[in-house]
Amino acid sequence: MKAELWDSTNESMSIAKLKEVQLTRLKDLVHRVYSTNKYYKKTFDAAGLKPRDIKHLKDIEKLPFLTKNDLREYYPFGLVCTEMDDIVEVHASSGTTGKSVVGPYTPNDVELWGEVMARSLWANGLRKHDRMQNSYGYGLFTGAHGFEKGAQKIGAMVITISSGNTKRQIDVMKDFGSTALAATPSYSLYIAEVAEEHGLDPLNDFNLRLGLFGAEAWSEEMRINIEKRWGIIAHEHYGLTEIIGPGVVSECEHKKLHVNADHFLPEIIDPKTGETLGPGEEGELVFTTLTKEAFPAIRFRTKDLASLSNEKCSCGRTLPIQSRIKGRSDDMMKVKGVIVFPSQIEAALMQVAGVSDNYQIIKTKKGDITSLSVEFEPTEERYKQGHLDNLEKQAEGEIYSILNLHVPVRAIEPKSIPRSTGKAKRVIER
Ligand SMILES: [Zn+2]
Repeated sequence: MKAELWDSTNESMSIAKLKEVQLTRLKDLVHRVYSTNKYYKKTFDAAGLKPRDIKHLKDIEKLPFLTKNDLREYYPFGLVCTEMDDIVEVHASSGTTGKSVVGPYTPNDVELWGEVMARSLWANGLRKHDRMQNSYGYGLFTGAHGFEKGAQKIGAMVITISSGNTKRQIDVMKDFGSTALAATPSYSLYIAEVAEEHGLDPLNDFNLRLGLFGAEAWSEEMRINIEKRWGIIAHEHYGLTEIIGPGVVSECEHKKLHVNADHFLPEIIDPKTGETLGPGEEGELVFTTLTKEAFPAIRFRTKDLASLSNEKCSCGRTLPIQSRIKGRSDDMMKVKGVIVFPSQIEAALMQVAGVSDNYQIIKTKKGDITSLSVEFEPTEERYKQGHLDNLEKQAEGEIYSILNLHVPVRAIEPKSIPRSTGKAKRVIER
């Protein structure tokens, strides 16, 4: 039986209809940005393009890409395509890799954001009777606000605790009867750890049934660990401040990642040549916002690697399916000629019994040569048993079987790696 959808008109329209909607919106978008924004006019003119040249969906390939550097250059409001007075809400990314990216919203943008988030959370199984503990950090960051808007549209209770103060998270989770936890996956594990330290059992002492996770790359193996530890179903969310925040891509009940492609048009390109790739081919994800008003993005290069497929999903949604993010192209490391993503090392470590969820990848650079090593915390029980060299060898073996690369692994004392209440720092440079 098909599941009930939040917005079946738009989530399950025929592919032909979806393309028609996308094209109408794309044409409107190029006219809008060209006539309202100096940057877009300049880049269109430089490419010898007029808005009327966009006649088919395929013509999107004629449009220039928008990069993070462009956003930095026009910081904070240079890419706004409405009057500044039309803006009612502003968010910004943390700016860990330079100037932060600013996301301004008109009332229609705020409405759209709530709608795509409600769609996403509904697909995850969130309902009116749920109580969602919102442990993403409130503030300029889009995470907490997007989840709040979507959950409230569904009619669920939002517990606005924000991140941090982990003991209080546990008290609130227990006393308020939270049924869903919205947080980074690594923070959910830290909350579980602190609960155990206080003599509570994450599996039996709480009402939690859903995990609404995002803002961090995590492996399938990590997902299984989290689901077992809490006794929940854990779902992945993917979004970006540059596009709208969370609500761009999220999972249905079959754990397939559907792109809300009636509003955010995805493409996969070859990161080196910029050439468009076909279904199933892995490359860099590029998004065009079709309906956003204040801060539209045309062909924004995310630097995230993934693929798109035309596969049909039994949930009834016709929205295209995206693979999980393999990693940011910035996170990609080349070690002795081998391409390595942190998520691959995580997947290997999670295969080994006695290895906990806490690990760090240490990157050392000598001249042009990068070498890697891994430090992990064994579980408390495994640590007490000793003979940790066996465990280290096992972990090295698993990494070798995935990467065909020898990476030295060291077991370190439990609780010695710093915990994070937001995005975990899995790779450090020494
Ligand atoms: Zn589906």
